[in-house]
Amino acid sequence: MQSICDSLPGVLSLAEARRRLVGSLSPIGGVESVLSGGALGRVTADDILTTVDFPPFSNAAMDGYAVRSVDALPGATLQVVDRIMAGASSVSDLEPGQAIRIFTGAPLPAGADAVVMQEAVVLEGETLRLSAPLLSGENVRFRGEELRVGERLLASGRIIRPQELGLLAQAGVKTISVRRRPRVAVLSTGDELVASGGSLGPGKIYESNRAVLLGLLADLPVEALDFGIVRDDRALLGEALHLAAAEADVVITSGGASVGDADFMAELLTEKGRVEFWRVAIKPGKPFLLGHLGGTPLFGLPGNPVSLMVTFMALVKPGLETLIGLVPSEPLRWPVRALGAIRKAPGRLEFMRGILERRQGELFVTPLAEQGSHRLTSMSAAHCLIVLPQDSTGVAAGDWVSVELLPGGERDILEGAV
Ligand code: AMP
Ligand code: MG
Repeated sequence: MQSICDSLPGVLSLAEARRRLVGSLSPIGGVESVLSGGALGRVTADDILTTVDFPPFSNAAMDGYAVRSVDALPGATLQVVDRIMAGASSVSDLEPGQAIRIFTGAPLPAGADAVVMQEAVVLEGETLRLSAPLLSGENVRFRGEELRVGERLLASGRIIRPQELGLLAQAGVKTISVRRRPRVAVLSTGDELVASGGSLGPGKIYESNRAVLLGLLADLPVEALDFGIVRDDRALLGEALHLAAAEADVVITSGGASVGDADFMAELLTEKGRVEFWRVAIKPGKPFLLGHLGGTPLFGLPGNPVSLMVTFMALVKPGLETLIGLVPSEPLRWPVRALGAIRKAPGRLEFMRGILERRQGELFVTPLAEQGSHRLTSMSAAHCLIVLPQDSTGVAAGDWVSVELLPGGERDILEGAV
């Protein structure tokens, strides 16, 4: 179904903007080799096959006694003839009528096919009395039951998390081949901006968007390049964009994307490169721009700090994932009830900063009273973004609304009012 904004030239619905953005980008390519131990957050470039069995030998899953299950009938007695610790390298065979003391992770002796838990036996000297029947394979981890040599340990295109670091370590893999990280140039524009540490003159503010962007980028397998602050000067900005585009695989700018007299992004891009689209029917974040400069994609973000974060989460993140060669992620949203009525004007999809709370076991959300897109404090105070569809005119108390957690929002839910 076409919405009002789809038919307005220049202003796209968020869904359409996302589709065009993802569709106009392709993976940057390139592979490098890294030590497995340093591969956290990187993306595998190939399937990785294991050269060892998981586990590499059959071993005990419990502290107890290795036995032949055929011998292990209730009331039977077995002679304990040996003892095997984890790490043992030579292990005697188990003959009928015998048991061997064994500890978790120790190699199973030949002849044994089960381990009886030490809590399930009575020991009299070196004689073991069993009380319950035992199945073949009980409390044993068999060689290769998890993975066999030559099977796939990790698929190509996977992000390495701590658990995958462990898999690589278990397989004894020293180096792996990973995708090259896109180089992401970040620059802020504005005559009013002063870098932290500088002194604030009249009309100036400390610049904060690069700090936010660099923080957001730290969670992705990209290499961030800080191109600093650029004044609202057409020529200077053109030069800075040119440099950034030459150096990086993608450029992210903040500010100057709107329609003010000092907003040069759309104009410069039209003149020196290409504007794919400009303006998205969202609030905040409407002036978002996607362009290309000499083949390098450029995301032009609005300068207001809340708009910047919202457009990053909604558009830049899936764009960067596409450049990395990952499936672009959809923000995870789930339904909660609005505690009170929420009013909204139709026309733009709205992201409201909200506070979650639990009442009688059910989650409710309330928008913060102040929703100004300049208020970074609201991003810090909020648990989530309430996502109200483009055509919505608001909801009544108790209605279901969609919410999206802010980065790190899981912690708020644990520690906050919820
Ligand atoms: P602009 O998108 O350039 O029109 O800027 C919109 C608002 O965001 C203005 O109030 C700017 O002062 C503010 N702003 C722009 N860039 C930054 C930045 N990098 N850090 C903090 N505030 C900014
Ligand atoms: Mg500006």
